[in-house]
Amino acid sequence: MPRALITGITGQDGQHLAKFLKSKGYDVYGLVAGQANPKIDGIQERLPYVEPLSGDLRDLTSLIAAVEQAQPDEVYNLGAISFVALSFKQPELTAEITGLGVLRVLEAIRIVGGMQNNPIRFYQASSSEMFGKVREVPQNEKTPFHPRSPYGVAKVFGHYTTTNYREAYGLFACSGILFNHEGPLRGPEFVTRKISKAVARIKLGLQEKVAFGDLSTERDWGYAPEYVEAMWLMLQQPEPDDYVIATGETHSGQEFLERAFEHAGIDDWRPYVEFDERNLRPAEVNQLIGDASKAKSKLGWESKVRFEELVRIMVDSDLKAEQAHT
Ligand code: NAP
Repeated sequence: MPRALITGITGQDGQHLAKFLKSKGYDVYGLVAGQANPKIDGIQERLPYVEPLSGDLRDLTSLIAAVEQAQPDEVYNLGAISFVALSFKQPELTAEITGLGVLRVLEAIRIVGGMQNNPIRFYQASSSEMFGKVREVPQNEKTPFHPRSPYGVAKVFGHYTTTNYREAYGLFACSGILFNHEGPLRGPEFVTRKISKAVARIKLGLQEKVAFGDLSTERDWGYAPEYVEAMWLMLQQPEPDDYVIATGETHSGQEFLERAFEHAGIDDWRPYVEFDERNLRPAEVNQLIGDASKAKSKLGWESKVRFEELVRIMVDSDLKAEQAHT
């Protein structure tokens, strides 16, 4: 059986990827940070086949131990401080985990796997936030980076470090430059999930209002379960490479909000939505839209669930979850 080690197993993508890899016959190991991580119970309930390994992206020794224990064929580095707003509040921690964490995982692979003919394949979760103040529209693998947040800056470091380990040590290391991808497992702090959850609660009379910052920014939003397949496909290719993964469509937060209220059967969203300037960021990324044609031609990957369906999936899921609580 092939073996995979996932960092960020308790996050949205880690859970989808674990499920996907299990369906492909993998033994799945997941790195879990903290001595009593509150998310681990849920993981063991939903994904009982995942073998948890204790470790932290800030601690190289723990990463070496995890790679030694898992003896993985593939390592997926999904762990990060991934919320852009938090990265402005904790930039040093973001650089430490989202940036330097990548270097530490690569070092652990290099040390445990040996320098030459290292059989461990590595996936790095790069991000469209690296494009930031975009230099061209749409963005592809050759578009220069101009990050606009500590998160984006840390991801650029991780991206180039991955390229460097590929070139310097011949490691099979790939970066997936993934544009936003969402779904019912998205953390409630992210705007799409904040909207779907609030809409569900407002519909059920459990909440009166919800406040946002700038909803005019546009993102290329896809469906998370499809995106983890692209990660796996990258590691099955004859040569390591980097790929943009996106839908090729862009929509504003405002559009997401309007579609979500509409789907819940609330015609006018205005009475329920407030502006809160505390949600504004020191620097914003106005619009992102990806060109995933390389992934289509080389990996045979293409997004299927588009914007409207994504909104419906998320609102329906939150309505169901909130109803179950009442
Ligand atoms: P997520 O839900 O925020 O998950 C982040 C994961 O990182 C959690 O499991 C968290 O674990 C873990 N983590 C945080 N600090 C850690 C540390 N010090 N040591 C070990 N693990 C740590 O993120 P996601 O949406 O699944 O995204 C997965 C990856 O793709 C991230 O790197 C993200 O930046 C990147 N990405 C995401 C998107 C997107 O739209 N979702 C787009 C592009 C790139 P605990 O909370 O349990 O500590």
